[in-house]
Amino acid sequence: MQQFKTYIFRLYPDCDQKKKLNSFLGTTRFIYNHYLDVKENNPSLTFYEMKKDLPNLIREYPWLQEIDGCILRTTIDNLENSYKRYYQKLGNKPNFKKYSQAESYRTNYLEGITANHVKYQNIKVDLVNRTIKLPKIPEIKIRGYRKLTSFAKKIINVTVKRVAGKYYANVLVSESIEVPPFTPSLKMVGIDLGVKTLMTTSDGEKIENIKDQLARYERKLKGLNRWLARSKEGSKNREKIIIKIQKVNQKIRNAKKFYNYIKINKILKENDVVFLENLKTKEMIEKGQHGLAKYISNSNFSDIIDKFKYKAKILGKKVYQVSTYFPSSQICFSCGTKDERVKNLSVRKWECHKCHSLNERDINASLNILVEGTNLYFKDLDKEMKLYLENLERELKLI
Ligand SMILES: [Zn+2]
Repeated sequence: MQQFKTYIFRLYPDCDQKKKLNSFLGTTRFIYNHYLDVKENNPSLTFYEMKKDLPNLIREYPWLQEIDGCILRTTIDNLENSYKRYYQKLGNKPNFKKYSQAESYRTNYLEGITANHVKYQNIKVDLVNRTIKLPKIPEIKIRGYRKLTSFAKKIINVTVKRVAGKYYANVLVSESIEVPPFTPSLKMVGIDLGVKTLMTTSDGEKIENIKDQLARYERKLKGLNRWLARSKEGSKNREKIIIKIQKVNQKIRNAKKFYNYIKINKILKENDVVFLENLKTKEMIEKGQHGLAKYISNSNFSDIIDKFKYKAKILGKKVYQVSTYFPSSQICFSCGTKDERVKNLSVRKWECHKCHSLNERDINASLNILVEGTNLYFKDLDKEMKLYLENLERELKLI
C-alpha cells in the first residue's frame, strides 16, 4: 500500500541561502495578500484565473522571476483552501498576512530528462552529504534521521518553514508500506465508568475504586484537622500539622494517580480500540444522589479519560467517547429497549420489561458503549479513507 509520510529536516542555511529562503517566504505573503485583495474587489474571479494571471504579475514585478515559480501557484492554492474553509464554516474569513515568527511556503517536486539524457530533479535529498536541494537554492545543510542513509523515496512536495528563526523542510513522500494482514482479532472494549465500580469493561472485568485506601487517608486527615483546630495560631506545632496535612493530601493525589495509571495501562495493552463515555462530571456531582457526590469526585472521571487519551497516543491505540447524551445505562443490551427506571443509580440489576433479560447495570452499560463506540470508530475510518483519497487526488493534480 502507498502511504504518505512527512520527513522533517532542520535546515542550516548559510547567509545567502537564508536571504533566499526569507525572500521566498516574503513573496508567499506578498502573493497571498495580492490575490486576497484582488478577490475581495472582484469576488467572481476564480483561483484558476488568478494562476493564469501570474505571468502578468511577473511582468509587473520583475523580481518575481527570481522566485521558485511553483511557490506562486501553491500560494494561490492555499488562498483557495482558506476560502473553502471559510465557506464551509470551518475557519475565519481569510486575512491579510503580516510578517510573523512562523511562515511557510510549499513547492512541488518535478522531474524530467534533460537534452543530454540526464535525469533532472528540482528537489533532492542527499543523506550522504546531508543536504537538500530546493528549487532555485543550492544545497542546504540538513540534520535529522541519522539512521537513514539514503532517501530513495517518491517526493511529492516540500514545505519550508521558518519558526522562531529556525528553518525546517517538511518533505512529503509517498512510500509503500507493508500492511499487516487484517486481523479479525482487532480487540475493542467498552468501558463504563461508575461510582460503585470504577471501571466495568465489556469483557466483564470490574476494577474497583481505591475507596478503602482513600478512606484511611481521610480518617487521618480528619484527625489532623481536629488537631489543627485546637492548635494555637502562629505556633510551631500548627506549622507542623499543616505540613502533615499537605503530606497526606499529596499521598491521596499520588494514590489516585498511580492506581488509575496501572489499570489504564493494562486495558490499553490488552485492547486496540477503547470506548469510553463522555461524562459531564460536574453535572453528575450536582445532581448526584445522596452520598454519591464525594465518590464521584474521588474517582475523578475526567482525569481517567485524559489518561486514557494520553497513553493511547503513545501506545498507538485509539480512544473514542460516545455522546454525552447516549443513555448507555438505560438501554437493554439484548433488545435495545430503553427503560427510564434505570436512571436511578441505586438500580444495580434490572429485568427488561420487554425481553425479560436480567441486566447487570454496569456490564449492560459497557456493552452498549462498545456497540455505540464501534459505530463511531467505523464512521471515523470511512472519513479517514475519504480524506486520504481526496489528498491523493489533490496531490496528483498538482504534480
Ligand atoms: Zn430487553
